[in-house]
Formats: sequence, C-alpha cells, structure tokens
Amino acid sequence: MMSAKILIVEDEPAIQELLAFNVEQAGFQALRAEDAESAWQQIRDSAPDLILLDWMLPNTSGVILAKQLRSDARTKDIPIIMLTARGEERDKVLGLESGADDYITKPFSPRELMARIRAVLRRHVPQMPDEVVAAGGLELFPASHRVTAKDAVIELGPTEFRLLHFFMAHAERVYSRTQLLDQVWGTQVFVEERTVDVHIRRLRAALEPAGMDGLIQTVRGSGYRFSVN
Ligand code: CA
Repeated sequence: MMSAKILIVEDEPAIQELLAFNVEQAGFQALRAEDAESAWQQIRDSAPDLILLDWMLPNTSGVILAKQLRSDARTKDIPIIMLTARGEERDKVLGLESGADDYITKPFSPRELMARIRAVLRRHVPQMPDEVVAAGGLELFPASHRVTAKDAVIELGPTEFRLLHFFMAHAERVYSRTQLLDQVWGTQVFVEERTVDVHIRRLRAALEPAGMDGLIQTVRGSGYRFSVN
C-alpha cells in the first residue's frame, strides 16, 4: 500500500495543503478536491484508494457526498475517513451512519491521522477470487459459499468461510493475526487481534467432525497456517 492514492476533499486551502503535505510525507499519493463536484471528477479520473472527506463543504456537504459514494456501485467500497471540526458524539454517529469508515476531529495530529489512514487501508478487504479451491481433502466453492469434506457439507459462518478461503488459497504459509485481519476482515474499525483467535476456534470446531481441524495449525509466536502436512 506504499503508493496508495488518497483523495483529500477539503475546501479550506490551508488545511488541504497541510493534509496533502502529511499524506505525501507518509509515502502516499495525494489527490485534491475542494468540493463534491471536483471530488467526483477525481474519483472518475484517478480511482483513489481512500478518501479524506471534510464534513463541511460548500454546496454538497461531506455527509451527503459520503452517502452518494456509498450508494454508487462503483464507489461503495472506497474507504472514507470523515474530517470534522465538531466533537459532539451525535455528529460522529451521523458521520459513521453516512457510510464513513472512521472519523477524526480537527485539530488532529498528523501522526494520529496517518495511523487512522493506515488502519482503514489495512482493513479494507481485498476481494477473494471466485475459483473453487481444493486442499487437504476440503473443497471450497466461493460462488455458493459451500465447503465440503469428502462430499460432506461443512457448516461455516461468513467470517469462518472467508478465513478458510484465505487459508486454502495460501496453504503452508504462516500468517500473523495482524496479517489475517488485513486479509480477511471487513472495513470494521474496531476489530481486536484476539477476535482472530475466536474465529480460528470456531473454524476448527466446524472442521472437527470431519477430522480436519488439524489443518489449521498454530505456529507459536507467529500466528496460524493451513497445512496438509
Ligand atoms: Ca470545510
């Protein structure tokens, strides 16, 4: 994600400049817009990886723009961090309800902002491929969300399904909890690392009746791996 493109939508030139400076210092590419209209132009032309969106914009507000972005199939998956000058709880809730992934209140420290950007980018889930995966006696069918072990169906929750899918597609490699969060979880801002352990336990429990829980191995001090050995 070194050269991720960050679109800064901010009408105050000094703040826009400051944001662009910090974004570029952190190794990202900064795109700029001063209102909703120029934001759409940038989104169409440059396909940003994340949008820093000011709450108060002329004409169309940041909240309205966030809602528009979320209701458009082409833009609904772009993570949004809302910038707000107000700190009231009510506004934060409104911002998150409008579809923002996170919010940050002005004035903010550049370090905090960069940490939020990295966290949101990290949790923005890449799409898994649609091909059927087979490994260790298991077959996983992404299109129908089915997993079978020697023709017996294994019942899995959606997160366990994604987790198993990722493991099977990357067998024999060890992944830390942080890496698994990056690869498997949704754009949820408040997921803790121990959540991974909970879902690993559920996944093993689901595989146990087929005698296949041993496929999910704990690598002490490192994380987890799917291994047929
Ligand atoms: Ca503003």
